[in-house]
Amino acid sequence: MSVVGFDLGFQSCYVAVARAGGIETIANEYSDRCTPSFVSFGPRNRSIGAAAKSQVVTNYKNTVQSFKRLHGRAFTDPYIQSANSNLVYELAPMPSGATGIKVLYMEEERIFSTEQVTGMLLTKLKETAESALKKPVVDCVISVPSYFTDAERRSVMDAAQIAGLNCLRLMNETTAVTLAYGIYKQDLPAPEEKPRIVVFVDLGHSGYQVSVCAFNKGKLKILATAFDSDLGGKDFDDILVNHFCEEFGTKYKLDVRSKPRALVRLYQECEKLKKLMSANSSDLPLNIECFMNDIDVSSKLNRGQFEEMCSGLLAKVEGPLRSVMEQAKLKKEDIYAVEIVGGATRIPAIKERISKFFGKELSTTLNADEAVARGCALQCAILSPAFKVREFSITDVVPYSISLKWNSAAEEGLSDCEVFPKNHAAPFSKVLTFYRKEPFSLEAYYNNPKELPYPKATIGQFLIQNVVPQASGESAKVKVKVRVNVHGVFSVSSASLVEVVKTAEGEEPMETDQIVKEEEEDQKLQAGDNGDKKTEAEVKYCCFCLVGEKRVSSLLLQTTTEDAKQQEKKNDQPPQAKKPKVKTKTLELPIESSLDWQLSREELNLFVENEGKMIMQDKLEKERNDAKNNVEEYVYDMRDKLHGILEKFVNEADRDLFSLKLEDTENWLYEDGEDQQKQVYIDKLAELKKIGQPIHERYVEAEERPKAFEELGRQIQMYMKIIEAYKDELYDHLDELEVTRVDKQVNDAMVWMNSKMNQQNNQDLTMDPVVKVTEIKAKTKELYASCNPVLSKPKPKPKVEPPNEEKTENGPVNGQEGTESQPCNPDKTTPVGTEQQTKTPEKNLPEMDID
Ligand code: ATP
Ligand code: MG
Repeated sequence: MSVVGFDLGFQSCYVAVARAGGIETIANEYSDRCTPSFVSFGPRNRSIGAAAKSQVVTNYKNTVQSFKRLHGRAFTDPYIQSANSNLVYELAPMPSGATGIKVLYMEEERIFSTEQVTGMLLTKLKETAESALKKPVVDCVISVPSYFTDAERRSVMDAAQIAGLNCLRLMNETTAVTLAYGIYKQDLPAPEEKPRIVVFVDLGHSGYQVSVCAFNKGKLKILATAFDSDLGGKDFDDILVNHFCEEFGTKYKLDVRSKPRALVRLYQECEKLKKLMSANSSDLPLNIECFMNDIDVSSKLNRGQFEEMCSGLLAKVEGPLRSVMEQAKLKKEDIYAVEIVGGATRIPAIKERISKFFGKELSTTLNADEAVARGCALQCAILSPAFKVREFSITDVVPYSISLKWNSAAEEGLSDCEVFPKNHAAPFSKVLTFYRKEPFSLEAYYNNPKELPYPKATIGQFLIQNVVPQASGESAKVKVKVRVNVHGVFSVSSASLVEVVKTAEGEEPMETDQIVKEEEEDQKLQAGDNGDKKTEAEVKYCCFCLVGEKRVSSLLLQTTTEDAKQQEKKNDQPPQAKKPKVKTKTLELPIESSLDWQLSREELNLFVENEGKMIMQDKLEKERNDAKNNVEEYVYDMRDKLHGILEKFVNEADRDLFSLKLEDTENWLYEDGEDQQKQVYIDKLAELKKIGQPIHERYVEAEERPKAFEELGRQIQMYMKIIEAYKDELYDHLDELEVTRVDKQVNDAMVWMNSKMNQQNNQDLTMDPVVKVTEIKAKTKELYASCNPVLSKPKPKPKVEPPNEEKTENGPVNGQEGTESQPCNPDKTTPVGTEQQTKTPEKNLPEMDID
């Protein structure tokens, strides 16, 4: 499985992977670890990431950005309506009423769903990960803001599916940061100490998130979260843009907002200015040439003025900090560290306010931009059986309290109960028991709409089907499992009908609704220290019987705050003590869920299919562009070389003709050849190469020929020396007949070489060579093959052992026994010392590697 983490940011994304060396943030094709969250649509393809961002001014209507917050929302949603009036591209309703994005793609007007557009961005991030890991990427962990509601989370999950990803966990951004921090501070705290409390602050482009976590060695427990989804870097940009729109209106009489292109440029410049002001407190210029109506604009601003303009925004920093402290019932002295991440925490006034609130220096242990992606990759590694991660478990929290309501059978009318209070541990499952004679419906909703940055409190309806009375006519017992899963999404995950068969000791079930709640901490993300197998998820159960629906919600609340020891005690009791002795038969019941903005299977399949088609179209377009670029590159390269290194290898007339053809091709590329099929470019390149290739080959031959002749000459010379000395003591073991045969071959080779060299010296360089380098090399090999076995035959060992000293002198050294009598390799260019070889041929001929 792949081990990848994606930080899907509002403005930019990061990809981290786990490799043998640890977690690594990886770079995209531009060698940049940051990939802008932009998708641009063109007449032939899409561009995603940096390539899309570069089109934001020229193709603003079809270049989509800031779409992270469009997930899981109706087109009529107030956030969408307000965003639509500020965006330079157009939003439009999908047939379902959800938010879509209207663009011109392949010269056709198209409305893509938000899931599709995020799917496109994820496709890009997936490709980035794949090219770094050099293998397909499917399994991954993706980040979402901790304030995302169920509808928004489900929508991001759908986007992951569209991109062909299997998201193992949607991870809250601050939780990912917590995990990344946990890895850095593995030993926090020492075993005998109390848990250390760390506050995490992430101020990104679109949101402000704060969480507080208790660290106890490998156990990380989030205690509380708070956020402001209206505070982010973009809000500071908005203030600057408004300021300059006003100023340029008065100073230059320009209505900037009437020209989207100018507005986009102003946003870019204001963001740059904002970043500069973080580093510099003096007056800084803002100049834009040819801004609007051919007018250049200029202005200046300093940090003090900027902070004054943003005082309203800066005042919002404290609220969530105070909120987490109150929720977790902590005092400032309890805080061990305050770790800040996210680009906008670089604004000095933000840092000052956070630091002042806690009365301590801020900690920047982590890379502020990459921490979320790294935490996600780490989570993925923890979930992967292929990685051994030090024992780590992280418990997240439910961001908004969740209640269920239903029609009561006992007392007519609606009943409700809070199933997950705010900051309840997550992921988590609970089992509720109902007594019913017929199918019934449960509605899940956020019970504190005030704290939701989302207009609708309903999560969904869940119809428990196929419920029938018991054979006796009494209500059947229905167990319903509700769950906040690993992605932070609520669901009624299963329901079963329990048929109770009475026994002698058994009690009859009550006529009215009863609720039995079992809690289950259903996932403990852990990695074993001692082997590849993960420690099994630890599951805790506790069981409470509550009678009377009216009291349910308060009693449920009691359950969750119940002292852990008391729960353990209850769990320790034998099962008989908990339940009456009854025989039961369980029947799984189907559940029909109706969730807002949930894509249907058919829609999702269609989107997956369309994404596949668009990926293919992008690939074809890339190949077409590459083919065109190859022609262009060849033209420029050849034109230079024809008057440079290739000049000697082509006659003047041919050179002029070829130059002309290259020039014509260059013009063609800007005219008729601007937009052609891939094959047209391939043919064009072949046509040019037909002329250029022979010239280039003549050049290459001329470059390599001397070396090839030299090598052959060296072989000939070496063999000749051995043949000359073959009667000497060193070579007297060689066979005379064989030596005579190779002597002739060596002479023939020399005659061949001399004649070819002479002919070539008289040949004009603009003509094809009389002998090719490959022929010379073949001759060298041929000579080697016939001469070497004869001339490098090892001398038989003398019968009488020589004295020790001599043996050492002539014998093998440093374990060279194996190479003693190996022949020379003509493919190696290292010159062979013929002097030495005549004396000790065995030792000086290196290992053979002829093929
Ligand atoms: P989100 O987390 O909201 O989805 P994101 O992850 O894309 O968004 P980040 O990359 O954390 O956001 O932060 C981007 C924001 O930080 C931008 O508004 C950017 O202008 C701002 N920013 C980056 N560097 C600086 C700086 N030096 N000074 C001021 N602001 C900065
Ligand atoms: Mg972010």
